[in-house]
Formats: sequence, C-alpha cells, structure tokens
Amino acid sequence: APAVALHGVTKVHDNGVRALDDVTLEVPRGSFLAVMGPSGSGKSTLLHCAAGLDSPTAGDVLLDGTEIGRLDETRRTELRRDRIGFVFQAYNLVPALTVADNITLPLRLAGRPLERDWVRSLVERVGLTGRLEHRPSELSGGQQQRAAIARALVARPAVVFADEPTGALDLRSAGEVLGLLRDLVDELGQTVVMVTHDPVAAARAHRAVVMADGRVVETHEVPVAAELA
Ligand code: ADP
Ligand code: ADP
Repeated sequence: APAVALHGVTKVHDNGVRALDDVTLEVPRGSFLAVMGPSGSGKSTLLHCAAGLDSPTAGDVLLDGTEIGRLDETRRTELRRDRIGFVFQAYNLVPALTVADNITLPLRLAGRPLERDWVRSLVERVGLTGRLEHRPSELSGGQQQRAAIARALVARPAVVFADEPTGALDLRSAGEVLGLLRDLVDELGQTVVMVTHDPVAAARAHRAVVMADGRVVETHEVPVAAELA
C-alpha cells in the first residue's frame, strides 16, 4: 500500500467552505511530495486530513493501507502518535523545555524508552549536537525548525507531514532544512509530504502537485535538473 492515499476526499468546513473537492492522491513509500498552490486552495486542509488532524466530509484517507478518516478521536490520536510526524510552520517548540526535552517529548508522551543512540544520531543529523541544553529562544529560526523536524522524527513515524517548513526561514536556513528532508527520504527511506509556496523548495521533492479551489490541478515529476535550481 502507498504510505498515504486519499480517495475522493471532500472537506466542507463548518462555515460551508468546500476546501477539498474530490481529491484523489497517492504518495508512495519513501517518496517526497510537495503540495503547492495559491493561498486558500486547500493545501493545509489536505495536509490536516491526510495526517488525521481533521476528518474529511467524504472519501477515504489511508495511512499504510489503514483507513483513518473516520476512526474515532481516541484511535486517531493513537495512530497519529505512532505513525505520523508533523512539522508546523511556526515550529511549535515548547519554550520552557530544552532542545533535548523538546525533541524527546513524543517518546515521553507515548511512554516509550528514550533510545539514547537513536536520539543522539538524529540530533547529529539535524546538526544540533552542542545545542541540546539550550532553550528554543536561544536558537536561530533554522535551528528551531531542525529541532522541530527531529521531534517529528524521533518516534520513527511512517510519514512526516510538513506545513511550509521553510516559510519563516532565510534562504540559507531554508536550504539546510530542505537538504535535511531530502536526506531523510534518500537515506532513511522516510516518506515526506510538504506544503510549500516556494518553487525552489518544491524542486527538492520527487513530485509536486498544484492545487486550486480544493482540487489537484497539476502533477509534476520533478526533473533531476530542477534540483540544481
Ligand atoms: P491553503 O492552505 O491553501 O491556504 P486552506 O486549506 O487553509 O488553504 O483553506 C482552504 C479554504 O478553506 C479557504 O477558503 C479557507 O478559508 C477555508 N478554511 C480552512 N480551514 C478552515 C477552517 N478550519 N474553518 C473554516 N474554513 C476553513
Ligand atoms: P495557510 O494559508 O498557511 O494554510 P491559513 O491562514 O489559511 O494558513 O490557515 C491557518 C489556520 O487557520 C489553519 O489551521 C486553518 O485550518 C485555519 N483557517 C483558515 N481559514 C479559516 C477560516 N475561514 N475559519 C477558520 N479557520 C480557518
């Protein structure tokens, strides 16, 4: 089964806005998908439905073949905790906690062991060794976003969803964060779904879909040359 599949997903928000209109989309395991499109086209709603943060009005959302859209809230929370990592645009780190405690928070919340070697290798990969005892406010934006990515990965989720992970970053930090996401896909076989406005960011993905008015209106296989853009 694909890592993520949406079959005929429609989402009508409480205010009557049809944010997704019959979207069908599959994300193979170990691939990197960029979701693009103008503001209001349904990108966040798509990401939230795919990640089980929101339920569709109609259609199916499958994670590794398991239908999640209509699970009850308790089971959806469990599945999210066990199978999904989410990277928010605004990082959402806990200000009072150190970087180390932020990154390992999902393991604590799940009552799972800390697996020091794995955590250490992850911290090294995101380039935050030496910053572990700092608070988020003592880090640059790029470092905070890399901490948020490590936190999203620490429980080894099947899929990482990222909502404009470079939206708040300068060019250099954005490049580092994208390089990191791409390495995770290439080296760890992670599946990544990233919402972005930035064509340069999208060029680092394997495939880009463009949304308009709640529908997927274009699909691009990203050519290798675009990675040099
Ligand atoms: P994008 O991420 O592409 O900007 P969104 O998914 O945020 O698009 O929004 C798509 C449409 O749905 C917009 O018209 C937006 O105002 C509306 N919308 C998004 N979230 C909600 C919500 N929680 N309640 C009501 N309307 C929403
Ligand atoms: P983006 O354009 O990055 O998707 P938005 O400003 O559209 O960001 O949305 C930010 C948050 O507000 C999202 O969680 C979205 O679901 C919610 N939201 C967007 N539009 C509405 C709306 N009309 N009513 C209620 N919530 C909304």
